[in-house]
Amino acid sequence: MVFDHPEFEAHEQVVFCNDPTIGLKAVIALHSTALGPAAGGCRMHPYATEEEALTDVLRLSKGMTYKNSVAGLPLGGGKCVIIADPCDSRKPELLRAFAAHVQSLAGRYWTAIDIGVGPDDADVLAERCDYIFARSSQYEPGFNPSEFTALGGFMGIKAVADVVFERSDLKGLRVAVQGLGATGFSLSGHLHKAGVELVVADVRTDAVDRAVNAFDATPADPDQIHAGDVDIFAPCALGAGLNDQTIPEIKAKAICGLANNQLAEDRHGAALQQAGIAYVPDYVVNAGGMMGASTVIFTEPSREASIKQIEGLQSTIKEILIRAAAEGRPTSEIADVLAMERINSGRKP
Ligand code: NAD
Repeated sequence: MVFDHPEFEAHEQVVFCNDPTIGLKAVIALHSTALGPAAGGCRMHPYATEEEALTDVLRLSKGMTYKNSVAGLPLGGGKCVIIADPCDSRKPELLRAFAAHVQSLAGRYWTAIDIGVGPDDADVLAERCDYIFARSSQYEPGFNPSEFTALGGFMGIKAVADVVFERSDLKGLRVAVQGLGATGFSLSGHLHKAGVELVVADVRTDAVDRAVNAFDATPADPDQIHAGDVDIFAPCALGAGLNDQTIPEIKAKAICGLANNQLAEDRHGAALQQAGIAYVPDYVVNAGGMMGASTVIFTEPSREASIKQIEGLQSTIKEILIRAAAEGRPTSEIADVLAMERINSGRKP
């Protein structure tokens, strides 16, 4: 029963989408529309069981409520999952059939890209639905919306420099970037331009070589990058990297990176606070992608408007760091409190 599910937390609406003619099975979860229409990406994944898909969509949609709230967006939280292999040749048909279900919600839910669904797929969804964003046709050719996310990461590091290191510039700060893919490489570019000394690691040597050549970065062992002698550690690869093993080894005074779900467990937020490490909560600092891409929900696509909005993350992150220090509480807890305060007040910025 959905209402008894461990991840069910006052979700407003859960929609089960079924089309036996082409084998569509999907779930849309609207966690909250308190601040505006629910918004969050569409994931396509061959879940082993329907239970696994339901767990994912309930958890992810709640996460979107928090992310959108703390980012100051006039959006609630939602997410959808399509139970299918993204390499399935029927993908376009599945997307079109699914899009009709999103359309039936008449704008209470907007969806976009996620794992298994890229900007080109978002264009396919848009053939049957008016409530799709992050579509390739909304950007100039070659633009990757991950660049919005990376800009948010740069804003986070500027906030850390200000609050933790009491500095107005980044020149000479040492930052270790773990993962040099779409977000980590672009973030490194911003940091390099600002005069940061970069230490980088990736499991792919070509990615490391690219960063070493482009940014004069120092390569590090991917297994040891978290323990480097740096000022700030920026995890931009996989989740759960902040755990019982790595936290005691971290020498950086602050952590600010773009990977999702960096804390292996919620309690690691408190462990970082106890270790005297200022942690910028992942869902706050990596909201830039959502902020940039979602502007089209309300207005014509504009790179300038997106950038302006993402720049606002700097003050939100400063607020979290300052409040956490003042109240002696983990930053991860303060971010959740801030998100709830905005939701409860129903404030539309
Ligand atoms: P990506 O796949 O482009 O890059 C990830 C990089 O990490 C790859 O180069 C990979 O080789 C490297 N990597 C994997 N394991 C590693 C390890 N153990 N040590 C070092 N490097 C390792 O992914 P991305 O789009 O840059 O996303 C990175 C993280 O940011 C993910 O957790 C993602 O969920 C999150 N995120 C991304 C966006 C976005 O806009 N792309 C938005 C929000 C959150």
